[in-house]
Amino acid sequence: MRVPFYDIKAQYDELQEPMDAAVHAVISSGDYSMGMNHRMIERELADLHQVKHGIAVNSGTDALRIIMDSAGIGQGDEVITTSFTFVASVETIVQTGARPVFVDIDPSTFCIDPGKIEAAITPRTKAILPIHLFGQLADMKAINPIAERHELVVVEDAAQAIGSSLSGVPAGNFGIGAGFSFYVTKNLGAAGDGGLILTNDDQIAETCRSMRVHGMGRERYYYDHVGYASRLHEMQAAVLRVKLTKLNEWNARRAKLASIYFEALHDAPVTLPTISPGNTTNWHQFSILTDRRDALREFLKERGVDSMIYYPVPIHYHEPYKHFGQGHGSLPQTERVSREILNLPVHQHLTEDQVAFAANSVAEFCLKAAKIY
Ligand SMILES: *Cc1c(COP(=O)(O)O)cnc(C)c1O
Repeated sequence: MRVPFYDIKAQYDELQEPMDAAVHAVISSGDYSMGMNHRMIERELADLHQVKHGIAVNSGTDALRIIMDSAGIGQGDEVITTSFTFVASVETIVQTGARPVFVDIDPSTFCIDPGKIEAAITPRTKAILPIHLFGQLADMKAINPIAERHELVVVEDAAQAIGSSLSGVPAGNFGIGAGFSFYVTKNLGAAGDGGLILTNDDQIAETCRSMRVHGMGRERYYYDHVGYASRLHEMQAAVLRVKLTKLNEWNARRAKLASIYFEALHDAPVTLPTISPGNTTNWHQFSILTDRRDALREFLKERGVDSMIYYPVPIHYHEPYKHFGQGHGSLPQTERVSREILNLPVHQHLTEDQVAFAANSVAEFCLKAAKIY
């Protein structure tokens, strides 16, 4: 049985009629730049997350960069974050001129360990950038009071957390701004690139809106900031609005599929994901930890079960980021998780049989491994 890790085309197959109609409506309207769909997707996603302002941009990376610029993060500042993430979280900090300061993760949630933040705060610390990794919100109930005590800005990397919440409060409400991504493999993916800023702060919203169109002010061709060309493409906005009608259903489906893994693997000698109390994850990823990761991955491959390693190499190991870190061994949980993590297929277009097959294959590997070792 084949169990693919992603099936992007299946999303189109499910929504072919409305998707074709939406794209055709844009192309035949001539309303190509920041048009009706652009405005509507901002409103719809702000409403979904119960946030005041939505600002659509060209990527999740741009969203983070523009929030940080708008919050005045730059040269001479330090931004506390984690090294177990997609590179964009750290890349954008460096692009502002600020210095990323890595704090270790909590290995049960893969998000920043709040207990280790205060030791990393210096007089230069300006912000904390927690990543809601794999769809689960970071421990914002612990992070926000630390930020308040030290007068730090919080920027949420919510690229993977669309539709997720903590104690009923959706992602996007825990910082000065939150960056979301519509990259094709995300839970709400465009037919290309796209991103979104959510913020409850009127001033930040206004600056972000200006920054995405070259820093233009209220008056056309008058500039208040050095900005970016980062509009969301109108056709992407149209595609996203069609897919958004399915997001809740798709995220619920992922939760159902995740429960199949939990049921099949509760006795297996692998570490299953921990969802902390109060968290509702969108199950962007389903990740297990095992010290026989590479052998398991090979075994699954032979059985037709795809898996991925997010992320195999911590950011502080990579050449452009090495000098920001304290080197190998400085972030033991980040480094261990990078060696042991394996992401299993959990997207909404898998059948329950496919996921049961994937889960049973993991269990079978564990039984075999137990006999050999
Ligand atoms: C996808 C992602 C980004 C960047 O989003 P793009 O739309 O690909 O630019 C940033 N941070 C994390 C954690 C991501 O997963």
